[in-house]
Amino acid sequence: MSNMISLENITFKYPGTEKEVLKNISISIKEGEWTAIVGHNGSGKSTLAKLMNGLYFPEQGTVTIAGIQLNEDTVWDTRRHIGMVFQNPDNQFVGTTVQDDVAFGLENHGVPQDIMVERVQTALKQVKMDDFLNQEPHHLSGGQKQRVAMASVLALRPDIIILDEATSMLDPAGRAEVIELVRELKREEDMTVLSITHDLEEAAKADRIIVMNQGEVYREGTPEDIFAMGQELVDLGLDLPFPLKMAHVLTEKGIPLKQNALTEEELVNELW
Ligand code: ADP
Repeated sequence: MSNMISLENITFKYPGTEKEVLKNISISIKEGEWTAIVGHNGSGKSTLAKLMNGLYFPEQGTVTIAGIQLNEDTVWDTRRHIGMVFQNPDNQFVGTTVQDDVAFGLENHGVPQDIMVERVQTALKQVKMDDFLNQEPHHLSGGQKQRVAMASVLALRPDIIILDEATSMLDPAGRAEVIELVRELKREEDMTVLSITHDLEEAAKADRIIVMNQGEVYREGTPEDIFAMGQELVDLGLDLPFPLKMAHVLTEKGIPLKQNALTEEELVNELW
């Protein structure tokens, strides 16, 4: 499998500031892989996303997206490969109906009308919002809004989706809807996904987790490897997923549990 995103020896300060917010970061993300980047506030997660999207350029090191080295000249080429989904779905809507909203980005890219109609429908089907074509986006639930935001991104046919805290404003049901959608996109479309999140329950579903701390990669591994860190994650300012917290409490009380029960379902299966 080839690398879709590759960061090599990245060091970065925001223009006009002295603090190195990223220090010698090297990360590779393979095609079809779901990677989660976790870390407490200020650890540098969103800055990484901004460098991948070419909003800033590092003073040291290279960013390569889908084989193209990112710089001022290639930024528009590399952006075609990436779809960004942000925290607040309300800030992402531009259309008055769901279908207008998804069509907007395609219009901007000069996609002809007949292809546009087909792309809008396909994208809304992918996110299971094709029954809501004429609804106003602002009247939808949080999870539905975020799925429409993802349809707008998918309609542009990116190879990579970056979710920048995309579930953090949603209620548990909305969060579960978006996470399930990401699982399907990965399974059925072989999409490369990067979740930037402080939610370890979202990260638990990824293939690989990268833990950031103070602008550095602190640890990298499978969800099982990372959750085995236990208290160390809490010390890094991360909030353990509820099933894991429960597992710790129960283990302390002498109730033995499978060490890597990451989901509520696994935890319940272990208990009963
Ligand atoms: P995270 O996404 O993990 O919360 P960020 O990447 O937003 O972390 O922030 C990393 C560091 O960069 C923090 O110290 C933050 O204060 C600083 N920072 C973020 N955005 C800017 C900016 N536009 N200008 C200057 N410093 C910034």
